[in-house]
Amino acid sequence: MLSVHLVPAFQDNYIFCASDGAHGIFIVDPGDPAPVIAFLEERQVRPTAILCTHHHGDHVGGNETLASRYQIPVYGPSQRIPALTRALQAGTHEVEGAAMQVIAVPGHTRDHIAYFFENSLFCGDTLFAAGCGRLFEGTPAQMYHSLQRLAALPTHTQVFCAHEYTLGNLAFAAAVEPDNAAIQARRQETSARRARHLPSIPSRLDLELATNPFLRTRIPAVQNAAHRFDPNCDPNDPIAVFAALRRWKDEF
Ligand SMILES: [Zn+2]
Repeated sequence: MLSVHLVPAFQDNYIFCASDGAHGIFIVDPGDPAPVIAFLEERQVRPTAILCTHHHGDHVGGNETLASRYQIPVYGPSQRIPALTRALQAGTHEVEGAAMQVIAVPGHTRDHIAYFFENSLFCGDTLFAAGCGRLFEGTPAQMYHSLQRLAALPTHTQVFCAHEYTLGNLAFAAAVEPDNAAIQARRQETSARRARHLPSIPSRLDLELATNPFLRTRIPAVQNAAHRFDPNCDPNDPIAVFAALRRWKDEF
């Protein structure tokens, strides 16, 4: 069982310090080194490696400082990751002794990857709680297929998204599916957690399948809502439904 500590950074980022008990601490997407160093020093522990999902500054800004301070390797998708030690392709890898599944999830960026190990998914800015990342480099079809790859993981998967966007995403989900009771219940529960300054992360994949409109493009209520937003959208084409939802959310 993975033990994952959430380190808040910037306005709404989470950096994850994940330990499987056998291979030390993996730091996931350290955009800012300072709160990570504070966490490690408080516990007097040394990290094992840095795992990056994509090249945006709020996910990699701490790489150089942390890699040189602790003399640890940096893993990521491509040479666009600062201080990269080894680029990881999709597939199963042994990373510093830990078995990890690396999943290619292009869309937010063209070389975005996700890490799945010990029943936990670290998906960067691809899948958010009740939402998904913006399409900065990829196409709607790429992002749709990326999300489908994540949706095929075991339903009890813990989903560690890199931003606290859940309440805003649920407001959009409720606009798409006003009659979805699971969305209403999740909104209430998340509001209560956020009012106490508790994170809404991690999510669970089964909850995402029940409430995340971007994973529900085959549900008639979602198809009809996408068609109402864009009358040119073919409701029977899940990629077209996804594309319409993403455009709608961009202006929501
Ligand atoms: Zn990003």
